[in-house]
Amino acid sequence: MKNATEILEKMNPHQKVNYDRIYQKIRESWEAENIRPKILLHSCCAPCSTYSLEYLCQSAEVTIYFSNSNIHPRSEYARRERIQKDFVEAFNKRTGNNVLFLAAPYEPNKFMSMVRLHNLEDEAEGASRCTACFQMRLDIFAEKAQELGYDYFGTVLTLSPKKNGQLINEIGLDMQKIYAVQYLPSDFKKNNGWKRSVEMCKEYDICRQCYCGCVFAARQQGINLKKNP
Ligand code: SF4
Ligand code: SF4
Repeated sequence: MKNATEILEKMNPHQKVNYDRIYQKIRESWEAENIRPKILLHSCCAPCSTYSLEYLCQSAEVTIYFSNSNIHPRSEYARRERIQKDFVEAFNKRTGNNVLFLAAPYEPNKFMSMVRLHNLEDEAEGASRCTACFQMRLDIFAEKAQELGYDYFGTVLTLSPKKNGQLINEIGLDMQKIYAVQYLPSDFKKNNGWKRSVEMCKEYDICRQCYCGCVFAARQQGINLKKNP
């Protein structure tokens, strides 16, 4: 199984990395070895997992792990977890795949303490609070993937056009240095991935939520969480 770092080391360091291309090279190594690796895939709710699952399930055995203690409030965490689980079940039924679903307990204090410790409450969406949020979640993911013996850990976050895919991949590759599990690079937006996710949301009757997840983003968008429980 090829490691992303081996491929990146042979590339021009000044060139913007096409992480979908890196994924494809890794996939070619699976095909050459005739294996279907086990991937623990982070997802924060159903929309971005739609196409990501369709794409990865062509070549691998995937488990969705829902662990996103950045989400506020608890009822929204439970709602997104339920929608994610229902989507995985519907996807398996429709496609004949056997995607597994795991969910972590809700531990909002981990996220809130991290934000307060670094004074990130007032950061704009996409700035330092989000970097720290990606780091927190990918750290949890890498550790879980290592504990459960997965071949790779990855994230559906790279499907969203609102998220910095280059940064997310760089953080994933940093985590790979700490844990005994490989990071699976991705850019699920490529190959019309975003467009296909919109189609799949219609096919499976999935609505996109109106805020990213944390209380700070919701406040900045003027969302009344009491009216949007
Ligand atoms: S739409 Fe946002 S919250 Fe939902 S899965 Fe995509 S990145 Fe996560
Ligand atoms: S806006 Fe989204 S990515 Fe950024 S800190 Fe909040 S939940 Fe995390």
